[in-house]
Order: sequence, then structure tokens, then C-alpha cells
Amino acid sequence: MRTPIIAGNWKMNKTKEEAVSFLQEVKGKVPSGEKVEAVVCSPDLFLDALVQEAEGTEVKISAQNMHFEEKGAFTGETSPKALKDLGVEYVIIGHSERRDMFGETDASVNQKVHAAIDHGLTPIVCVGETLEERESNKTSDVVTRQVKEGLKDLTKEQAALVVVAYEPVWAIGTGKTPTAEEANETCGVIREALATAFSRETAEAVRIQYGGSVKPANIKEMMSQSDIDGALVGGASLEAESFLQLVEGGN
Ligand code: PGA
Repeated sequence: MRTPIIAGNWKMNKTKEEAVSFLQEVKGKVPSGEKVEAVVCSPDLFLDALVQEAEGTEVKISAQNMHFEEKGAFTGETSPKALKDLGVEYVIIGHSERRDMFGETDASVNQKVHAAIDHGLTPIVCVGETLEERESNKTSDVVTRQVKEGLKDLTKEQAALVVVAYEPVWAIGTGKTPTAEEANETCGVIREALATAFSRETAEAVRIQYGGSVKPANIKEMMSQSDIDGALVGGASLEAESFLQLVEGGN
């Protein structure tokens, strides 16, 4: 059984005070136990404070990106070692905004995925097609390639630890979503790509999230699908109350 995982991706929002007060508000209200994992993906600046605030609670803390090298002359970058040292548990890799605006490729995603796993961080690897790719029926090819290249050279055991987020680029921040059945179908394609690249057992172990305009109003329908094991949520994760409803919907 795959434990559902609801992750709020704050992107470049909030001040430290807002970040900490969000956590103070939600931390006692996230259900305990194995039912659902609740993750907050914060700008690097607040990670330290959030890890401390979340200690002993059910909330896990994630970064939104990192460099693949452990240290060195990479001005402005954050290392996997430093994230691990802070107590961060997850890191988003290859979000479409990073692919689109910051030049990330399947190859750089792959380097970062290896670095995350090597440092004991769980990568949330984002894949998804653009509107143009969808309209020319390339969705399956695109997500299959992104999974294959992004997770290249992992062992089966390492691949089983990865979380994949299926995020159609055209659905992010737009209020538009595929139907739950369409989202599930593509998550199924991703699971098949994992089975081909690794093994059936690995594919069955990997958690696949849907992301793109998820809200409290549509989370339950998405979560009812066979191949959708969670959600990566931007806009609707910014308010504590809405985040809690999403976590509840993931249960
Ligand atoms: P959205 O963003 O929920 O605001 O569409 C999702 C994401 O980019 O992860």
C-alpha cells in the first residue's frame, strides 16, 4: 500500500513570519499515523525555522530545488548536504517552472535526483506536458521520456523511494485541470514507464502525485483514482485552512 502524500509548494511566497505562523497553525491539526503524509515545500530561507517548528509533529519539510554538487563554487546555490543537515526530508526536482525559466533539463534533473537519494533526501520529481505537446498527442511520450531520463541509472531500490509529481504545465496556476480520469490515465502511463525502466514491484511502490490547480473542491475526486497517490499543490496550499482541507482530502 502506498501512503498518500499531500505537498504544498509555496513557490516564492511568504515571509519568515508568515511561514512560521502557517506551521504553528497547521502542525497540531495534521492527522497522525500512516494515513497521509503532509509536506510543506518552502523557500530555502525559512527551512531552518520550519524544521524546528515541525519537530515532533506529522508535518515534513521540503525544499523546492537544490544543486547536485555537495559543495563548491556555485554562487547562490544550495547543496543537498546542507539541506540534509538542517533536517529537511524532501526536495522538489525539475518543477516545470525551473525547466521553463531556469534551464533545467532531464539530464540536470537526473543529476539532482541522484544527489538527493545519495544524501538521504526524498526527491519529488516533476513531469508533465505543455499544452502544445498535449494537443499534438505527445503527453505519453513526454512523461515517459521525463521519467526514464530523470530517473536514469537509479537502482530499483532507489527508484522505489522517489515520488513522481505529474503536473501538466497548462494546468499549473490556471484553474484548468484534466478530468480525474485523464489525470489517472497519464499517471498510469508513468507507472508503466517505471515498470519498464525498473520492475513491476518498483512501479507499484512509487507514489505518483497529481499537480496543477488542485483545490479542496477537487482533491477527493483526484485521490479516488487508482494511480493517483497524492497531490502537489501551489496556490491552494498557501492558506493554512485550505492546506488542512487538502490533507484531509488526501486521507
Ligand atoms: P497550482 O501549482 O496548484 O497553483 O496550480 C501547482 C504546482 O506548480 O506545483
